[in-house]
Amino acid sequence: MVSVNEYFKNVWDTVKSTAIGMRITGKYLMQKPITVQYPDERMPIPDRYRGIHYLEQEKCINCLACARACPIDCIEMDAVRHGKELEWVKFTLDYQKCMFCELCVYPCPKDCIHMGTEFALVTTDRSELNHDLLSFKGMDRAAKIRMKEAEVKKAEKEAAKAAKAAAAKDDAADAPKDDAEEKGD
Ligand code: SF4
Ligand code: SF4
Repeated sequence: MVSVNEYFKNVWDTVKSTAIGMRITGKYLMQKPITVQYPDERMPIPDRYRGIHYLEQEKCINCLACARACPIDCIEMDAVRHGKELEWVKFTLDYQKCMFCELCVYPCPKDCIHMGTEFALVTTDRSELNHDLLSFKGMDRAAKIRMKEAEVKKAEKEAAKAAKAAAAKDDAADAPKDDAEEKGD
């Protein structure tokens, strides 16, 4: 059975703890709310945050240094070379495996693969976690123009070389004739 003293002590403890709780609630009642309404609002993200990667494709030279540096083989790429130009087939990064370690970023000789500030990877389909970092497939317009110009230059060089060779051949054919004419004189 509870004694009278214990009964009043319990009442006092209840009143005291309620007063402490209400004091804390009252303190926050006067402050502005700090809740961030994600995803409509976002907290500021530090510049060095290691989020989802992005690629500056026009700078990339398909050297594979990033893929080789990745400890868990998340990066796969494929491109066809046309002289100096690249025809891109794929450049994927699998976020089912990626641990956001940034080891793929440092060895890039062109400084073209980066970790951004985007972090949302919500999906109901795992295949969507294999991100394609390419902004375009195949060749971009500037590369196509450069390739055409290079082809025209090459054709011109070859034509000039062929013309030179033909001229040299004609000269060689004319030489014995000239000698014979000189001897006849
Ligand atoms: S962040 Fe790390 S795990 Fe992810 S792709 Fe780059 S090297 Fe691989
Ligand atoms: S290391 Fe850089 S340049 Fe080389 S393939 Fe990767 S992103 Fe491209």
